[in-house]
Amino acid sequence: MARSQEKLGELVEIELKDIDRSFQISPERVRRIALEIPGIDVKVETRKSRGKRPDKCPVCSKELDSLYAENLDGERIQVGFKCSSCGYRGEIEEFDPMRYEFVLTKG
Ligand SMILES: [Zn+2]
Repeated sequence: MARSQEKLGELVEIELKDIDRSFQISPERVRRIALEIPGIDVKVETRKSRGKRPDKCPVCSKELDSLYAENLDGERIQVGFKCSSCGYRGEIEEFDPMRYEFVLTKG
């Protein structure tokens, strides 16, 4: 088990290097692998979007939690949402995943 995870980690690292250089490998594929490895955190940058708000996390398809803030009138308004499962976090008008950052965490 530990051995196979280690192997998978190496694989992803190799693939990430390839992506940096040439985009030959689908980022989608690497992302999916990376999300399943405990030693890798996935951070997601978002961009402006005109589409409909996602019901589920566009990265890992898990439920999204709403983020709220108070406006000047003291009203609670939704300002965005975040995934409880991966590193995805979006704003009301800016939620299309644009760039993924993979952070190797030790331990
Ligand atoms: Zn997610």
